[in-house]
Amino acid sequence: MSRPITVVTGGSRGIGAATCVRLAAEGHDVVLGYVRDAGAAEETARQVRAAGARCVAVRGDTASEADVERLFDTAAELGAVTGLVNNAGVTGPITRLADAGTDVLRRVLDVNVLGCLLCCRRAARDMAASGGGAIVNVSSAAATIGSPGTYVHYAASKAAVDTLTLGLSKELGPDGIRVNAVAPGIIKTDIHAAMGAPDRPVTATAGLPMARPGEAEEIAGAIAWLLSPDASYTTGAVLRVAGGM
Ligand code: NAP
Repeated sequence: MSRPITVVTGGSRGIGAATCVRLAAEGHDVVLGYVRDAGAAEETARQVRAAGARCVAVRGDTASEADVERLFDTAAELGAVTGLVNNAGVTGPITRLADAGTDVLRRVLDVNVLGCLLCCRRAARDMAASGGGAIVNVSSAAATIGSPGTYVHYAASKAAVDTLTLGLSKELGPDGIRVNAVAPGIIKTDIHAAMGAPDRPVTATAGLPMARPGEAEEIAGAIAWLLSPDASYTTGAVLRVAGGM
């Protein structure tokens, strides 16, 4: 049997990097998208190849149609793409909406919503033509909490991810394409320092049922399961992996 070929956006660091490594261990070849950190992308690609998988790292912005097309064109050189993990995402700095700049709002929506849609659209076209596949979108527990005082714009963008996951799962079911999402809680990655709150994984999880932040590998496992044959009857699901949040 041929190996699955999976595109992972934002595969250079954090949840995306852990997902690339996990998928390689499960027999996937990986096309790793990233936007800026070439060193991190190469390090993750090295780990993927060390697991015996093929890996190509492609620099590009998921909010750019041309870059998304190039990402998938490069992936097609490995063979028919069977999986997509729409993981690339940004929050912008922590802020109340009243103080948020329009540039921040636009960027969050461009990357988290438009970027996700552009990747889903290309995957839908390619997978329908090649007989099916599976898409996993990385949402957030924020979508159902709203995140007041922190980033309601980000929470709203992830609610859009949940809705497009549901709609696409129904639209693409007849094409043999499953579409699901994972909604992480607070996970230990660089995203918190980037939003100006490096201690947030500890401070924001103390009162949760599991009283700790999650590890990127704990999200990667859920993503890998949703891509796997074990999830063959699962579509339209938003799997919350949030330590009880
Ligand atoms: P992270 O550590 O900040 O890593 C972000 C990744 O996305 C990096 O690989 C980055 O590439 C890439 N990226 C960012 N903007 C991009 C763009 N426009 N085009 C292509 N790639 C882009 O983030 P993370 O915490 O792993 O988050 C991954 C996903 O999980 C996001 O969708 C996030 O919203 C979601 N999530 C995270 C948490 C959490 O607590 N960490 C909770 C819920 C949901 P470079 O390395 O090149 O910068």
